[in-house]
Amino acid sequence: MTYRGRFAPSPTGPLHFGSLVSALASWLDARAHRGAWLVRIDNIDAPRTVPGAAEDILATLERFGMHAGETPVWQSERMAHYQQALEQLKSTGLVYPCGCTRKEIADSLVRAHARNTTLAYPGTCRTGLHGKPARAWRLRVPDGEAAMIRFDDRWQGPQTQNLATEVGDFVLRRADDQWAYQLAVVVDDADAGITHVVRGADLMDSTARQIYLQRCLGVPTPEYLHVPVVTNEHGEKLSKQNGATALDSDEPLDALGAAARHLGLELGSEPPATLEQFYSAATAAWAKRMNIRASA
Ligand code: GLU
Repeated sequence: MTYRGRFAPSPTGPLHFGSLVSALASWLDARAHRGAWLVRIDNIDAPRTVPGAAEDILATLERFGMHAGETPVWQSERMAHYQQALEQLKSTGLVYPCGCTRKEIADSLVRAHARNTTLAYPGTCRTGLHGKPARAWRLRVPDGEAAMIRFDDRWQGPQTQNLATEVGDFVLRRADDQWAYQLAVVVDDADAGITHVVRGADLMDSTARQIYLQRCLGVPTPEYLHVPVVTNEHGEKLSKQNGATALDSDEPLDALGAAARHLGLELGSEPPATLEQFYSAATAAWAKRMNIRASA
């Protein structure tokens, strides 16, 4: 196996401590496996993209000593590939147009909640649009045992999600004409030959959907590792929305040391004086913690 990992930031602001932790974990995992590490700019969600943020993130990664092995991929340049994947799914009858508005779905979820049943999309448009205009495209999820998606997360252990009861038929093409993250990430990871996904645990809940989508598209499922997310003093995930500050690029070792501690890595008593010293100690610590024996 030729290891290929990636870091896939959404350019909604500068790199902050939470995203640094994901970047560092994916970088160390690639180094410990002597594999390739790629960067993808997840700018699929045009309304959330902040001009200049992607360039800023790329420059920060460079200054922090994490160098992508190949030219970064931008999701905004890959629309034709998402369309092709949707066409493939249409041809197999796995997707259907949905005419439900957010309000209709929210109302049905409230009713379901009141009955104490599932909070998944109820599948209203499975049988047709009922005279409503098509708004989004949804992927049909299986019922019964086939709906149970299981995977072994390298950090969090065995995981199971029932797609039918916990998620329901999910959106691949949104009503606002944007591609859904779930489709883009699966198509991009497959095209880039990604073998190992290392990212924050906030994306754990998406993984079963992505694995199911990989099966529908006939592409391989990578190994997954979800690192604990960084939270603020209120226990909320650190994000640009709740005031995460940009990293100080003049002092990369301070932030990297803190990120390594968040990942539970023991770097020894001597603080590293250079980025090189830091990465060599951190890679060894990561390999030990994750039980990786590099073959090359
Ligand atoms: N772009 C996503 C985010 O920043 C991460 C995608 C992924 O790692 O799969 O939340």
